[in-house]
Amino acid sequence: MDSKQNLIRLSKSIFDEREAKEVTRILLEDGYTGMGKEVQKFEQELQEFLHTDKEIGCVNSGTAALHLAVDAVTKPGDEVLVQALTFVACFQAISGTGAVPVACEIDPSTFTIDLQDAEKRITAKTKAIMPVHYASDPANLDEIYEFAKKHNLRVIEDAAHAFGTIYDEKLIGSFGDIICFSFDGIKNITCGEGGAVVTGDPVVAQYIRDARLLGIQKDTEKRYEGRRSWEFDVVHQGYRYHMSNILAAIGRVQLQKFPMFKKVRQDLSKRYLELLKDIKGIELFIKDYDKIVPHIFSIKVLDGKRDGLKEHLMTYNIESGIHYYPSHVLSFYKKEGVELPKTNKAYAQLLTLPLHPDLTQDNQTLIVEKIKEYLNK
Ligand SMILES: *Cc1c(COP(=O)(O)O)cnc(C)c1O
Repeated sequence: MDSKQNLIRLSKSIFDEREAKEVTRILLEDGYTGMGKEVQKFEQELQEFLHTDKEIGCVNSGTAALHLAVDAVTKPGDEVLVQALTFVACFQAISGTGAVPVACEIDPSTFTIDLQDAEKRITAKTKAIMPVHYASDPANLDEIYEFAKKHNLRVIEDAAHAFGTIYDEKLIGSFGDIICFSFDGIKNITCGEGGAVVTGDPVVAQYIRDARLLGIQKDTEKRYEGRRSWEFDVVHQGYRYHMSNILAAIGRVQLQKFPMFKKVRQDLSKRYLELLKDIKGIELFIKDYDKIVPHIFSIKVLDGKRDGLKEHLMTYNIESGIHYYPSHVLSFYKKEGVELPKTNKAYAQLLTLPLHPDLTQDNQTLIVEKIKEYLNK
């Protein structure tokens, strides 16, 4: 039980010689590790993958993507509706611009933003809504867009989990207002670290292209032609958020492998549903894993047994996770009078089981056996 070797990991980056070879090519042949043609190629390939003519701006993290997206459509003091139960990156991306994250409840059946609750929190300052495609499920995305239209809000989709997911016959990112992906180490595809903003709004797209390069106007366009900007203008705040050629080279290989990653993630998740379906004391999110490409596989553990089960699994070297500790309880974001009972209840039940392309069926069988063992005790 002691060696790390036998650890069944919650999540994992999957690379082989192909990524290593491409990184070597950038280092030894190309010799330019900043943002250049490799990033441009990755952006073009993402566009082809998504079957979209929307513009794509790659950055160095999903958080940077969210930050720039919020920055593009809000002013300091504006409010953004966001579910409290999400990765803290959402709240940081919003507050980092000077806008205010307004914590909302989730719908406990899908873990996406609860629109009835969100509606109550709208003020004259509300400018945008940030739904999170939790566990890659876009849930009621149509309703979110209707809600946004009704209240004149921009939509910034946190699609960090949902790369490759199909909603209403269309890939996430191929439609909608502003869509942010993460390519961090454990997401559906990875660049090591990375992210992208997708939008059909030319003003937002240009803002993101410039803002990721310290606000230097049209620097992206020059770099893609192999030139540099020596004399230039800056008209707004910018950041050092551009993607490096090294990261893009990794991402390009991962994009080619995506069909394989997709199949394994979907097959493992379907098998989890099958193996777990009759166990008392847990509740499953039933999802269509022909459409959804799951980044995580979460279950609800009832009767206050979540923490005990998590510990039990760990004694058998099985990692599990909790996605996520809600942001409205954090010291930096806590607000007098904001109570989110549905979120708190859901948080206490959540457990994420191992899911990654290296997970075997034997691993899975063992995980389920140990879950049964604990809950039948
Ligand atoms: C991973 C993730 C992010 C942030 O992406 P990074 O690339 O890690 O910065 C944001 N939101 C959610 C829900 C995520 O899972």
